[in-house]
Amino acid sequence: MFSGDYHTHTVYSHGKGSIEDNVVAAVKKGLKAIAVTDHGISGYPGSLNPEDFDSFMSDIERSRRLHPEIKVLAGVECNLLGESGEVDLPKEFADRLDLVLCGFHFARLPRNWKDFFGFWVPNVTGKKSTAARIAGNTDAYLRAMENNRISVISHPMRSCRVDLRTIGEAAARLGVYIELNGKSMCLTEDDLKVLYETGCEFICSSDAHEPERVGDFSAAGVYVSAGLDLSHIVNWNREPEFR
Ligand SMILES: [Zn+2]
Ligand SMILES: [Zn+2]
Repeated sequence: MFSGDYHTHTVYSHGKGSIEDNVVAAVKKGLKAIAVTDHGISGYPGSLNPEDFDSFMSDIERSRRLHPEIKVLAGVECNLLGESGEVDLPKEFADRLDLVLCGFHFARLPRNWKDFFGFWVPNVTGKKSTAARIAGNTDAYLRAMENNRISVISHPMRSCRVDLRTIGEAAARLGVYIELNGKSMCLTEDDLKVLYETGCEFICSSDAHEPERVGDFSAAGVYVSAGLDLSHIVNWNREPEFR
C-alpha cells in the first residue's frame, strides 16, 4: 500500500482544485498523507505567487484542522533554471516547507539570456549534441541538489536528459528521492535498473493537477515490470522522511 501522494497541484499554481479538494480526495482514497506542491515560488504565470504564500500556508493549516485523520504537507515544486543549478525558491520560503520538489519545465523560461540559450533552448529544441546536453544537465541537477534544500527530483528525464548513474549516486549520498511520476513517467525499465544499482531511493507520486487524479500511483508499474524491490520506494508501506 502507498502511504501518501507527495506531489499534487492546486489553483495556487495551475491545478484545477483547491487545497481542500485535494485533501478530501486523498482522504477518500484512504491515504495517510498528502503533499500540496505547487509550482514556483516566483510569481511566474502558472506558479505560486510569493504574495500568496501566507494564504497557501493558512489553507494548509485549515485542511490540517478539518482532517486530522490525514497528514497534510506543504511543499513546492521548484524549477531548475540553468546549469548553475539555480532554482526559483527563495530560502525564506524553503525553510517553511515540509518538502521541496525540483524539476525542469520548458514552460518556465530562465531568468537570463545565458541560461536561455545555453540550457533552455538546447533542451527544448534538441540542439547541441546529446552528450554535451546530458553533461550540462547532469551538472545542473548536481549543483541544484548540493546548493539547495531539495527533497525529490520530479519526473527525471522529462525534456532534460541526464546521466542517471551520476544523479542516482548523488541522490543516494544526499538523501534526495527520485520520483516515479504518474503524469510524466519518462524512466524506462533499464533507466530504473541503473538508478536502483546506485542505492538511491524512489518515491511514487501522481503529479495530479486535478483532485480526481490524487492517489494515482500507476507510475510504479514500470518499476514492478523491471523486477525491482518495492521496499526501495519510500512511500510504499512507510512514510518518507524529507530532507
Ligand atoms: Zn513538474
Ligand atoms: Zn508537478
